Order: sequence, then C-alpha cells, then structure tokens
Amino acid sequence: MTSEIRQHYALILRNAQLLDVENGTTTSADVAIQDGRIAAIAPTLPLITADREIALEGAIVTPGLLDLHCHGYWGATYWGIPLDPVTERSGVTTAIDAGSAGAYSFRGFREWIWGHNRVETLAFLNISSIGLIHKTYELAHSAYADVDLAIQTVERHRDIIVGIKARIDVNTVGGRGLEGLARARAAATALSLPLMVHIGKGPPELREILTYMRAGDILTHCHTGHSNRITTPGGTLRDEVRAAKDRGILLDTGHGMGSFSFQVADQLLQQGELPDTISTDVHAENVNGPVFDLPTTLSKYMLLGMSLHRALACCTVAAGRAIGYPSPSRITVGDIAHVAAFTIEDGSFPLTDSYGETRTAQRRLRCHLTVQRGEIRYFHPVCSSPEGGILTPTAHAINTPHRRRGPR
Ligand SMILES: [Zn+2]
Repeated sequence: MTSEIRQHYALILRNAQLLDVENGTTTSADVAIQDGRIAAIAPTLPLITADREIALEGAIVTPGLLDLHCHGYWGATYWGIPLDPVTERSGVTTAIDAGSAGAYSFRGFREWIWGHNRVETLAFLNISSIGLIHKTYELAHSAYADVDLAIQTVERHRDIIVGIKARIDVNTVGGRGLEGLARARAAATALSLPLMVHIGKGPPELREILTYMRAGDILTHCHTGHSNRITTPGGTLRDEVRAAKDRGILLDTGHGMGSFSFQVADQLLQQGELPDTISTDVHAENVNGPVFDLPTTLSKYMLLGMSLHRALACCTVAAGRAIGYPSPSRITVGDIAHVAAFTIEDGSFPLTDSYGETRTAQRRLRCHLTVQRGEIRYFHPVCSSPEGGILTPTAHAINTPHRRRGPR
C-alpha cells in the first residue's frame, strides 16, 4: 500500500499499530508523511530517512479525531475557549463549533476563530442571530431567530458552516416554546443542511422537539440526565426516540456541563443502544472538569463497556459522515495527514459525569501524538514504566484486559 517510495520524508512514525476503527483490526506499520499527506505505509521502511522520526512503540494510530460539538468563540461568547490547546493534546484535528456564532457574529467567527485556529474549525450556525453571547435565552426574543438572515449567512460561509444549531430547553426559549425550533427547521430545510438540536430541561418536551427533526439531523446531549432524557423511567429507550432513530436521526453525546449522565448512558449501553457520535461540548465551564477533553470522554464510554474501536469510530467516520466531511476508518496513503496516536493506560482513574457521579476506570485513553496536515501539534513520548515494561498495549491488548499497574 505504498506509493512510490522516496529516500527521505518530512516525518516518519515508526512501529505504529494502525487501527481500522470500523472493524477493529490493526496492522503494524511505519508511516511516512510528506507535504501534508500520508506518503507511504509499509511493515517497515528500514533505509528511509526523515527530518523527524517518532518511535511509537506500538501505540494505536488512527485518523485525527473530529469533535462534533465544541465551543471555540472565546472572548465573544459566554462559553467560548481557545480550542487549539485542548484539541492538540487530544488527537483532535477537526473541531466543530456548535452554534456559538449566529448571523450577527459569524463574520467575526470567520475572521478571528476559523482564520486563526490551528485545528481545522467548522461550525453550526445558531438560528439565533445573537448566538451564545449570553449564557442562555438566545431564543427568548422572536426577532433573534431570523430565518432569512440565517440563510444569507450560510450562503456567504458555506465553506465552513456544516449545519444549523438550536438549543431547545426551558431557559433558552424563555417562554417562546417551539418557535425557535420551527425557524431552525425552516432554515435547515431551505439550505439542505443538518439541524443539530440541544435538549435538556423541558418544556418544550422531547416528544414535541423530535417532531421537528428529520433524517440526518443530530440530537445532541443524548445522554442527558435532565427531564428530556431519552430513556423511560424504567431505563429503556423511549418509543419516540426509537422512532426518530429509525427515521435516521443521529444521537450525539455532547457531554458538557449538564448533559452526560453515567446512569443514562450505562442503561442504554447495557441494552446495546450506542450513540452515533461522541463529542465533548467542551467549553469554559467544563474544560477543567468534568469534561477535560475528548480522550477523557471516550474513556467514560470504554468504562461502560464500549470497545476502543467503536468509541473511536464515533468521533472519526461517524462524526465525519454526520456533516459530510471525509473521515476515513484508517489512515491511508494519499489522505491528508491528520493523524492521532494513543495508548491505553492501566491504573485507577476517577471519571466524573455532569451530575457529580464518579466512577473509577481501570484504563484510560491517552493521546501521544497529534499531526495536523503533516505538522506535529503535540507529542508526548510513549515511555517505559519504572519497572522497565512498555506501557503501551500491543495489538492484542486493545480489546483484552492487560496487567494492572498502580495509580499514576
Ligand atoms: Zn454546546
């Protein structure tokens, strides 16, 4: 699977375990990167030199991750944070801002966020023209949700807007019920773009909200523990949510400050009900916990029994598919060199949900390398333990428990 082999490359990753996130298989390989693209993949590239070589000691290598729900409009909105520091340490090469900007503020988003971030940044446009400048109530005034203005804004920024966002909960709508959602629906339909809908505390009630959603739309905060949770009191998937899934609506995590409940996620995963996409909803009030970053969010799903490759598929291929953005299931020669490398650390790791429940994981996902268009954005050596063993899993260890080590 190599193209023409050169003698020298910009970057070589040695001894990687290339993971195919769709089927969970791994292949041991060296990877050469040149001019921002994957240039060669071979079991070994022995006599080849590079400007920089990185020994990955068997770490798992995947396409760069895509975080479908972030808030990066810092300095201009309540929730925004600079996304580069958190994405770079996380293996995330594409970050989707979920509606921080509305029509009035999208020009600034384009100029100061999209234009300055090193992480590839795309956005859902908030149907509220004021976006998320304030903590909430963005749909509490009719004039804010201007369909024509939203459509004009998307038409001017089609290259970076991937959908329409509406936050629908008791506070955001401020007594105006489903008016904002109806307008978001109208804009998304006119533009043939997906609609991402945030849920939390009703009213409006989940049952009513779902009637506005169509195939390809995204229900974010799907594991919320608030009143609009997607489970019945008995812990099974609500009928109207099953029907919504059957007609093609996607369930996205959007962990956030108030939207990931271990209890809800656990109940659903035990019944084989997996989210379609896993995202952080990382913002100013959760980046220092309990969210931290995408590997921490993925570790929570692994704690609940999700396999590594299924979890990673939710923030690569599945997330890409949700917004029509190419994200392959494994790194491949010729692709843009968005690459992430991870190990699974053993130990004792307390992980906390949005409601203060802490569960202790015996393993967690740790990022060691983020490569964005061929440029190294983050590297943490894959090091040996004090007793001399290699901390990284070998291929067989990805789906099987391995030696316990003490907390670090
Ligand atoms: Zn959000």
